[in-house]
Amino acid sequence: MYMSYHVDENGFYGEFGGAYIPEILHGTLEALREQYQKIIDSEEFLQEYYQLLRDYVGRPSPLYFAKRMSEKYGCQLYLKREDLNHTGAHKINNAIGQILLAKRMGKKRIIAETGAGQHGVATATVCALMGMPCRVYMGALDVERQHINVERMKMLGAEVFPVQSGNKTLKDATNEAIRDWCCHPSDTFYIIGSTVGPHPYPEMVAKLQSVISKEIKFQLQEKIGRDWPDYLIACVGGGSNAAGTIYHYLDDERVKLVLGEAGGKGMETEMTAASLNIGTVGILHGSRIKVMQTDDGQIIEPYSISAGLDYPGTGPMHCNLFETGRAKVYAVNDDEALQAAFELTRLEGIIPALESSHALALLPKLQFKKEDIVVLTVSGRGDKDLATYLKHKK
Ligand SMILES: *Cc1c(COP(=O)(O)O)cnc(C)c1O
Repeated sequence: MYMSYHVDENGFYGEFGGAYIPEILHGTLEALREQYQKIIDSEEFLQEYYQLLRDYVGRPSPLYFAKRMSEKYGCQLYLKREDLNHTGAHKINNAIGQILLAKRMGKKRIIAETGAGQHGVATATVCALMGMPCRVYMGALDVERQHINVERMKMLGAEVFPVQSGNKTLKDATNEAIRDWCCHPSDTFYIIGSTVGPHPYPEMVAKLQSVISKEIKFQLQEKIGRDWPDYLIACVGGGSNAAGTIYHYLDDERVKLVLGEAGGKGMETEMTAASLNIGTVGILHGSRIKVMQTDDGQIIEPYSISAGLDYPGTGPMHCNLFETGRAKVYAVNDDEALQAAFELTRLEGIIPALESSHALALLPKLQFKKEDIVVLTVSGRGDKDLATYLKHKK
């Protein structure tokens, strides 16, 4: 039987996904489901979207042949340079897509949640660009820890709302954003930052990020005369840069998919965020996914050195890729990610985001043939992580 790894008509990837939401949001999500596909496939939307991606974000992002890294790992390694985008990561691709959608749906106000502040900054950026009011929910603890991103969002004109409930981190910020959405369903658009949340968000975000794999296709064709690699490698937090990297290759079994999630201090310790490898099935933020939770369903606070991978679950597409074996998912520990960051910096002169370093750290775990074409997505740049890198400098 032919099996597709794409979402089905009910919003499921295998047993994962769906839309488990308060009744009051039912109509809002229904309207989004009905309209988003038509809008984002329309000529008029695509023209504005691609124009902004080109002139504002700086796309297409380069596909760079990393010569010295290729020699080191015995393969043909290409880096997809999302770190070169405006605001320094892939998140802007999705934020631009969703704000164009919000405008076309007649929404007047934008809300978002953020952990490390990266998605908050991307959302505040596109709200400044479009002149729309923006409130970003952020755990009070994260507000303290991510001071620079908070100031960035404020400078861009967003209101940053510190959330005092629970552990005062991302999960609590998301709960609060959902609460806000329930109170203002008709005029407010909720820009979710990753392939998580209720259907149709995971598929919508994946599609808006799929510009990454669309570019990989034509860039490979241009460089090597065939449009598919042997390996695609990416890191996974909620799953959006990985989804964008693999989107056009999901059902192409010639392409091996290898993903790195945050092992933290190790899967056997309590300080980890490896929800695909050791999580269990539960409902989080409107979706049936693998979650870090206790036996009675309390969310366990995740841990990773990298703030962007520090989410207690993983989106439904990746849960299904993991369970079906379509993707191989490794837990990459803090120290392995740090080492990979220093290595890329010294061999190629590129300082990667700590999140992206979790993808780079997969290279020594894989056995390549010399002629293997390997495409690895560098999801963001490392400027924001400099303090962490300095603390761990050898
Ligand atoms: C947010 C972030 C991630 C993790 O999010 P995904 O949705 O899994 O891509 C990875 N890399 C960078 C640079 C980020 O900012």
